[in-house]
Amino acid sequence: MTESKIEKSLALIRQAVAEYGPDVAFACSFGAEDVVLLDLISRAGRSIAVITLDTGRLPQETYDVMDACRKRYSMPIEVYFPDAAEVEAMVREHGLNLFRDSVELRKRCCEIRKIHPLRRALAGRKAWMTGVRRDQADSRQQMAAVEDDAHFGIRKFNPLIEWSEAEVWAYIREHDVPYNALHDRHYPSIGCAPCSRAIAVGEDPRAGRWWWEQEDGVAECGLHASPLKKR
Ligand code: SF4
Repeated sequence: MTESKIEKSLALIRQAVAEYGPDVAFACSFGAEDVVLLDLISRAGRSIAVITLDTGRLPQETYDVMDACRKRYSMPIEVYFPDAAEVEAMVREHGLNLFRDSVELRKRCCEIRKIHPLRRALAGRKAWMTGVRRDQADSRQQMAAVEDDAHFGIRKFNPLIEWSEAEVWAYIREHDVPYNALHDRHYPSIGCAPCSRAIAVGEDPRAGRWWWEQEDGVAECGLHASPLKKR
């Protein structure tokens, strides 16, 4: 982990706040990258709204790290929930485990439990920040540090875009950053409990998400799969 890479990330955080002030929000899922970004935001001494989604299907370990971060960084965390009427209608029609029945229904579940609440969380904002890294998946290879997010119609900042997985973990260890206990049980990517699993040695890091779908290899939930323009 080079100090220059940390400085570059800190500079991007400061740039986002300088350009957008209260109109930029960090969408945090409390995975390894996101807790590093939370620590960097704290180090940068900048106030950024931290938003997170409670889909209603999260593992207990995610709630635990959420609260550990709340205490450690003394930052308010805005938790957004799905619309109760939408979830009720979906479950009434398709059952609680609809995501196992088809790719279409899995995407519907992600749409209602994640995309709609994220839209609400980002409404009125002009930019958002994420902890995505380029080498997490082939679908993220084209992502840049600053982009126009065509899907949400706002600017997107990715301060960790150039970090490797090893650098993320070196930072967590060195700075004693709270992290999701599921990572110690071989979950590299953590989302909802029924849609995340541990991976075996040699498997793609995102193979533990929606593993029953064979569609196009590694699946995305849609939060970061939108068409993007590099800046
Ligand atoms: S990850 Fe699974 S449970 Fe969570 S919103 Fe998507 S399909 Fe539904």
